[in-house]
Formats: sequence, structure tokens, C-alpha cells
Amino acid sequence: MLYHLIFYNFALRIVAIIDDWHGYSANVWLRKESFRVMKLRFWAYPLQLQHTFTVATCSRTTTPDVLVSIEHDGIVGYGEASMPPYLGESIESVMAFLSRVNLSQFHDPMMVDDILDYVDHIAPGNCAAKAAVDIALHDWCGKYLGQPLYRIWGLNPANTPFTTYTIGIDTPEVVREKTLEVEGRFRRLKVKVGVAGDHELIESIRSVSSLPLTVDANQGWTDKEKALDEIFWLKEQGVIMVEQPLPKTRLDDIAWLTQRSPLPVFADESLQRLQDVTRLAGCFHGINIKLMKCTGLREAQKMITVAKSLGMQIMLGCMTETSCAVSAAAQLSPLADFADLDGNLLISNDPYEGMKVVDGKITLNEKPGIGITDLR
Ligand code: MG
Repeated sequence: MLYHLIFYNFALRIVAIIDDWHGYSANVWLRKESFRVMKLRFWAYPLQLQHTFTVATCSRTTTPDVLVSIEHDGIVGYGEASMPPYLGESIESVMAFLSRVNLSQFHDPMMVDDILDYVDHIAPGNCAAKAAVDIALHDWCGKYLGQPLYRIWGLNPANTPFTTYTIGIDTPEVVREKTLEVEGRFRRLKVKVGVAGDHELIESIRSVSSLPLTVDANQGWTDKEKALDEIFWLKEQGVIMVEQPLPKTRLDDIAWLTQRSPLPVFADESLQRLQDVTRLAGCFHGINIKLMKCTGLREAQKMITVAKSLGMQIMLGCMTETSCAVSAAAQLSPLADFADLDGNLLISNDPYEGMKVVDGKITLNEKPGIGITDLR
């Protein structure tokens, strides 16, 4: 009987030890698995603008923005969706879209094509929300490989273009002041035209600076003949490029203007995604690609390839956004003829540090991924 009891206790002890071990290994497995599952996080981060932003269609002092991170294997990639109101997305729509993105079904973030195809097919539109995932994923991959994206893509950082800096519509005194303030830091200035007072604005800049100017009419001109006269006048003022002169759907009139224009004419509002590029060949000399419009870096690369094959020039633009999205776009900038990547310089609450503008030129750093540091 005693032997039976001893044996019974011994057996119970063995069962308890096996149970403990199972519990422990199940825990370790669970912890390992959760470490390996891709986690998408997102939070609203409204951007505060340093100056009131005025274009032909509206004025504003803030821009809705959502920041994103993707974590996997202890590496965190950052992304961003910036939503100027005229593009139709909002903090609510981006948060709703991102809530539907289930990255836990993917086990390898390097499968960028599979993942972004899935994201693109969740719902149409939502381009800024999709760009946020695209940027975070590319940042993750670059960090995983320990290299900046431009190096992974084989691009020479010495070939980055100058970026323009936008001088907003204001009183002549303020315009002169702003121009003098950035003189020496930038080699190209950008001006919004197609609004009352644009000639005065350009003359005010010219009274204190001889820097080359680019202009953006934001569809603000309506008469093609008058637009052509305007472009000839602008050329005499040292303007080197014109963006979106006429309403976006008037492609025949834009083609007429482009054929006669002494300055290169670029599409912005007429262009959104890859499928638009081919039909714009012959209508414009070049296209302005923005990550928030085209769903991110993956599609932007394809647009650059198609546009170049059609003999079109490339401009890289941005919204008002943090150094996150600006630095992501900058990774592609060695492929661009023009760049307008000043969005991060227009806000007062940038939580990241990334691409720098040195003597007017986009300057890429050696950090992996999109090359940003979280300052928070
Ligand atoms: Mg534009």
C-alpha cells in the first residue's frame, strides 16, 4: 500500500512537471508568434501650419494627418497619410480604412507586392491611407536590410534635384520679407498663380531676388489664349516651369497650350495614379507625382518608369506633411527633374527628422529605410 502511495505521488509529480513545461513552451511560442505578427498602428496627428496656406481654391491653417507604424520582428517602419481637404479624405476616413487592414495574415513584410496588392483591393480610393501603409512597409524593409531605400533601388544620392520653396500670396512687404528669409537656403522658389495679385507677388519677389521661379496655377486659368500670354510674361520674369495651367479635364486645351508654351508644362490635378500617365503623354511635358495621390512609393516608381518611357519629365511633389512622407518621396528624387518637397518646412509640429535641404538641394542621409528619426 505504501509503495502504491509513493508511486501515485511520484506519478502526480511527473504529470505536474510535464504540465508546467507545456505551459512554459506554449507561452514562449505565443510570445514568439506575437513578435512575428505584423502590427499596424495609427493615430491622428493634425499638422499645424506656420503660415496660412492659400491656393486658387481655398485657405487654411491646419492639415488633417494620420501617422502609422508597422512593427514586426522588433523593427518599426513609419508611414503617414496627409489629407488636404480638397482631395476628399479625412482623419475619419483614413482611420476607418486602416481599421480594415489586417496585416496579421502576412508573415513576411518583404512581400511588399502581395501586401500592397491586398491593401489596394480593400476599397477603391483611400489613396493617402494606402500611401501610409506603403511608406511604413518600405521603411520597415529598408531597416530590415540596413540600407536607405535609394541605395536598395540603385539610385545615386548625388543626383538629387533642387527643391522649390513656396512663397504664398501675401502683401508685397511680407512677400519680400519671406523671400529674403529663404534666400541662400533655396535655389528655386515656387509661386501660386491664377489668383488675384499674382503679378504683384512675382514683382515683389523679383524686387529682392533673381532666383528661378516655378509657378502653379492650380487650374486657376480658364482661357487658353490668355494662359499662353501669361506664360510668355512669366518666362520674361525668370519662371522656368508651369504646373496645371487649366482645369484638369480640359486635356485638348492643355495640349494646345503645351505645344505653344515656351516653358515646360506639368500635370498635377490632371494626374492621380499609374493609369493616368499614358493618356497625359502629349498633353503635358511632365507629371507631378505625389505619394498621397498615387498610393505610395511602389506606384510612384512605376509611374516614373512609364512617364520616362513616354519622354515625359518627372516632378516629385508633396502635401503639407511631416518629414516622414517627405523623406519617403525624397528617396526617389534622384530620378526627378523637379522637386517640390518642402511640405515639412511649412509645419510647426514635425515629430520626425529626415531628409534635409542643403543649399537648396535635397540631401539624403545614410539612415536605413526612408531615413527618419522619431524625435518624440
Ligand atoms: Mg500643384
